[in-house]
Amino acid sequence: MSEGAIEHGIAAEDVAESDLVTSRGVFRAVAFRDPVDRYEHLALVLGEQRSDVLVRMHSECLTGDVFGALRCECGQQLDAAFDAIQREDSGIVVYLRGHEGRGIGLLAKLKTHALQDSAGLDTVDSATALGLPIDVRDFGPAARVLGHLGVRSVRLLTNNREKVRALRAHGIRVTARVPLLVGENPHNVRYLTAKRDRLGHDLPHLRVPDAVAQGGEGAVGQPRQDGRQLVEQALAGDEDVEGGVGEQLEG
Ligand SMILES: [Zn+2]
Repeated sequence: MSEGAIEHGIAAEDVAESDLVTSRGVFRAVAFRDPVDRYEHLALVLGEQRSDVLVRMHSECLTGDVFGALRCECGQQLDAAFDAIQREDSGIVVYLRGHEGRGIGLLAKLKTHALQDSAGLDTVDSATALGLPIDVRDFGPAARVLGHLGVRSVRLLTNNREKVRALRAHGIRVTARVPLLVGENPHNVRYLTAKRDRLGHDLPHLRVPDAVAQGGEGAVGQPRQDGRQLVEQALAGDEDVEGGVGEQLEG
C-alpha cells in the first residue's frame, strides 16, 4: 500500500483485475467483494493519476443505466461521467451494486414507480408511503476501493453534497465537487425537482421554479444551460458540506 493510503480492508482474494477495452478507451476493471456489504462492485480506472483524480461514485440503476429509462437521469449521468473522464484521459468510475432505488432494491423501486404513476407521489413520498427509507446507500465500498487503488484525493462528480460528506466520513479527501447536470425531460422533471427541493441536490439548470421561488415574484426557474455542464467547485476542508464533517482530512 502506498504511503498515506487509507486502510481499505479488501482481502486479496476478493479482488480481480483485468483490462477492459471499451468504446471510450481501455480501462482497468477492478472487481471487488466489499468486506462489509459483501456485494461485488466494480471500479473502472483510466490512467495512473492518484491525486485530485476525477471520480464518479455511481449507484446501480438497472432501469436507467442499462435500459435507458427516462424517469431518472442515472444513465445520462453515467454517460456524462465517462465523457468527463474521457476528456481528461483520467479518472475512476466506482459502480456500486445494491444501490437500486437509493438502496431499497429493484422490486421496491418499481413499487415506488407504480405509486408515483398511480397517485402522483414524488420519489420521496412514494417511498415513505410504502414504509421504505429514503436513502440507505452505504458509500463505504467506494472509499475502500479508492484506498485499495492508492487514491489520495478526489474531485467528485456529483450534484449531491451528501456524497461528498459520506466519502469524507470514510476518510477520502475530496478537493472539489464537479456537477453532473444532464437534461430534464417530461418523464424525469418531477424526479429531478424532488431531488433538488427535497433531497438537497444542487441542480441549478432545472427550469422548474423551486419551492421558494414559486411563492415569490417572477417565479421563473433559472434558464437551462445547454448540454452537460461541468463547472468545478474547489472545496477546502469541509466547505460546501452543510453541517460539516467535523474533521480536517489533510493528506
Ligand atoms: Zn435511475
